[in-house]
Amino acid sequence: MKPILYIVIPCYNEEDVLPITCDMFLGKIRQLSAAGKISPESRILFVNDGSRDRTWEIICGLAEKDEHYLGIAQSRNRGHQAAVLAGLMEAKDRCDITISIDCDGQDDINAMDEMVDAYLDGCEVVYGVRSKRDSDSFFKRFTAEGFYKLLNAMGAEVVFNHADYRLISSRVLQEFANFEEVNLYLRGMVPLVGFKSTSVYYERHERLAGESHYPLKKMLALAFDGITSLSVKPIRMVFFAGLFIMMLSFIGIVWAVVAAFMGHSVAGWASLACIVCFMGGVQCLFLGIIGEYIGKIYLEVKHRPRYIISERTEGME
Ligand code: UDP
Ligand code: MG
Repeated sequence: MKPILYIVIPCYNEEDVLPITCDMFLGKIRQLSAAGKISPESRILFVNDGSRDRTWEIICGLAEKDEHYLGIAQSRNRGHQAAVLAGLMEAKDRCDITISIDCDGQDDINAMDEMVDAYLDGCEVVYGVRSKRDSDSFFKRFTAEGFYKLLNAMGAEVVFNHADYRLISSRVLQEFANFEEVNLYLRGMVPLVGFKSTSVYYERHERLAGESHYPLKKMLALAFDGITSLSVKPIRMVFFAGLFIMMLSFIGIVWAVVAAFMGHSVAGWASLACIVCFMGGVQCLFLGIIGEYIGKIYLEVKHRPRYIISERTEGME
């Protein structure tokens, strides 16, 4: 049986670019199924993310014109990550593999061939990784690459230079559905599910039409979400900052006492300085201890699966 592929495409105010790129996606489905790699039942699933322009009308028109096009619309704009998730969850029971990709033609659609090949070779997750960032400004490249390094330093596992262009099998999506958190950072969450994975490399181009919906503000918000959703290390840092300030406060205390004995201070200053230093340190340390518990609570409320079984021998099915 050839696998059924669903290409999941989030769209937000994309009336300019959708009429151009929709044919590319359909062409790719036709080409892959003619090559015998995927089933002719494969589909293109557009997710309208509360667009204010004619995006949904265009999607409906496409769905009427050709059975390969499907569409769902979110009740309002919820952001790129939620739109991708909605599409993946809708697709998971209807197909064997999904590939999520932006609708603006930036990601090289031909990388899908390699992704499907990798799946046929036994990989359940295939990350699309940008081979270079020539089309980015220096600022974007510097901040983006720095951010991947920062995330990894924080203990979150993210694939360097991979955004949201990836193949995920429906089997992995079934497990992924158990990650019930609402603060989404998909590229950090998918590696948590595990299973055999690999990367394919592609060049990212300029947008074919329309403009980016990721201004600096949204990018920073996503980056912040990435760190705080995947790591409790920032909380742990409070504890170590508390420990450090506590140690500093002892130096302060020694200094105040010495200054008082040598007669370099007015009466009462040393005792006050000692109390201020000590209280500052103690408070920070205690805040850190409370933080440790909050970090634990944070991890608990996410209700992430504690284990995922990938293989079973006969008799354990
Ligand atoms: N997008 C979305 N909801 C949003 C913002 C963006 O579904 O609130 C979609 C958008 O239509 C596109 C993808 O997410 O398919 C990536 O957005 P964009 O190309 O604007 O970001 P950039 O490539 O500039 O980072
Ligand atoms: Mg884009």
